[in-house]
Amino acid sequence: MTITALMPVYGRCEVEPVRGDGCYLYDAQGREWLDFASGIAVNLLGHTHPHLVGAIQKQAATLMHTSNLYKVPAQANLAQRLVDLTFADTVFFTNSGAEAVECAVKTCRSHHFAAGNPEKFRILTFSNAFHGRTMATISATNQEKMRQGFEPLPDWFTVLPFNDLAAAEAAMASELGGSVGGFLVEPVQGEGGIRPATQEFLKGLRALADKHGILLILDEVQCGVGRTGTLFAHEQYGITPDIMAIAKGIGGGFPVGACLATEHAASGMIVGRHGSTYGGNPLAMAACEAVLDVVTEPAFLGHVNEMSARLRAALEQMIPNHDELFDHVRGMGLMLGLKLKSDSRAFVNHARSHGILTVAAGDNVVRLLPPLIIEEHHIRECVDKLSAAARAYAPAVAA
Ligand SMILES: *Cc1c(COP(=O)(O)O)cnc(C)c1O
Repeated sequence: MTITALMPVYGRCEVEPVRGDGCYLYDAQGREWLDFASGIAVNLLGHTHPHLVGAIQKQAATLMHTSNLYKVPAQANLAQRLVDLTFADTVFFTNSGAEAVECAVKTCRSHHFAAGNPEKFRILTFSNAFHGRTMATISATNQEKMRQGFEPLPDWFTVLPFNDLAAAEAAMASELGGSVGGFLVEPVQGEGGIRPATQEFLKGLRALADKHGILLILDEVQCGVGRTGTLFAHEQYGITPDIMAIAKGIGGGFPVGACLATEHAASGMIVGRHGSTYGGNPLAMAACEAVLDVVTEPAFLGHVNEMSARLRAALEQMIPNHDELFDHVRGMGLMLGLKLKSDSRAFVNHARSHGILTVAAGDNVVRLLPPLIIEEHHIRECVDKLSAAARAYAPAVAA
């Protein structure tokens, strides 16, 4: 194999966008794609949203980066805003989702250490989870394709079956229980195939954590920030976590994440425990503020829920016309999964040639993650394009 300038770790497709506008991407030849991938749930205001662009331009022209050696007022302001909007009392800013999860895990570990219980080092995670690509976060998943080549990995994550409360209860009652310091779970699994946790499961984990004096860590990197129709997905479960990792949508395309925690959970995060050179720099903070300005407008989440209901209904209407290919729709808000009866990656590739971008996920699911600002005509266009793609695809499936 000859080496390329760019490490060849991505299986990239042929699309080469050079420009975006709202819910569309364009290449140098002017070809257009309806973007129902949003850079994997990132561009939640679509592309080139004037409020986000304006905020970034203004901040870049004022002050881009200083250092966490100094006071960063924009960080304190955004942290206060997130605290006011959530269960949390305190926030640490990161540059990515995996780093937000890393911080969440360190917050949990340091909590038990500070409380004099360093033996509670283990974190229970769940099958088909995705928490990122750092060494710690790949050790939190059982997905072989991510772990391969990197073992031995830290062995203080134990993976249990997702949505199986009895298994979690049994683990806590077993010999393992005494070493467990927390649960780490996605309320809606993204990469794993748009699988929402059941009410019973998430409520049960909350109760189990309380019973054992351990922490519930939610990974809302993909499902957070309005994506599911509430500001955070856990709001729909009537529970709150002790710690939560967010990223993706919060910057609307600017790389930024955060770890939110209660005062109790963050008891070990004292001076020197953690840090990041870029984390929370003024430019990132300006992007987050702009995204939150829009997402917290009174009618915004109502719009997400209305578009969700319409997209879902339109997809459900389409399924019987192509029932050799499509199985069902699942998910919450504008984090929807179209379950296929055959390989979803192949169909996502095929749909691209019909002018629509989606993302494949586990369990043969096609992820539909449109910008949260879509309108009804985008939904019609999406279903028309998926239908056209399915019509042209049927022979391949039958063959
Ligand atoms: C994308 C994702 C991550 C990792 O985020 P990066 O920014 O790629 O590090 C972690 N958890 C979940 C649920 C994700 O979807």
